[in-house]
Amino acid sequence: MHVENLEPRVERQEKAKENKQVVEIIEYPHPTLRHESKPLRRVDAELRHIVSEMFDLMYEHQGVGLAANQVNLPYRLFVINLEGTPEAKDAEMVFINPVLSGAKGSEEEEEGCLSIPGVTGPVTRSEKIQLQAYNLEGEEFVGELSGLAARVVQHEIDHLNGTLFIDRLTSTAKMAVHEALDEFEIEFRSKRETGALPDDASIAARLAKLENLWT
Ligand code: ZN
Repeated sequence: MHVENLEPRVERQEKAKENKQVVEIIEYPHPTLRHESKPLRRVDAELRHIVSEMFDLMYEHQGVGLAANQVNLPYRLFVINLEGTPEAKDAEMVFINPVLSGAKGSEEEEEGCLSIPGVTGPVTRSEKIQLQAYNLEGEEFVGELSGLAARVVQHEIDHLNGTLFIDRLTSTAKMAVHEALDEFEIEFRSKRETGALPDDASIAARLAKLENLWT
């Protein structure tokens, strides 16, 4: 059973009052979710702050992984905590500029995504992967991952390449989520009409500006 932890939300509101940047999760079909993220060249205090916001958001939405472009940022960075709770601080991991190699086996499991809430479907992924990445301290991570870790990492790296789990569903499974996705698209268009969301050109201009800052 999931019990919503409201504490991170309160903390985020406090930060908003201090005028610090507050990131929000964007939902399908926001164009940033289709943007191919760029490698990060440096890490600074602002980026560390964004990463801590990403963990807060991930816990608030009961997720185990969150990629930078899900919070509308064009960087090759994602956070995971397979325990899914801020109490398990030791399980928090930040992966910067991740590179996958040497995939083995395949496994089908049900997946969901914080950018497409309420939609789930079976996705076939490699069972074991080799991952190379950096953390916020610039330390290199090289290792083999399997099970849930391998699945979450593959899901998040897909995000960085502009791929969503719904792209990997079989045609039968796609049919099962078609209606739900239509609703997201209708909602997105109506937000655009009311001006609650910027147009494609403004979104692209913002991403280009952000890419110049850190990549
Ligand atoms: Zn996702």
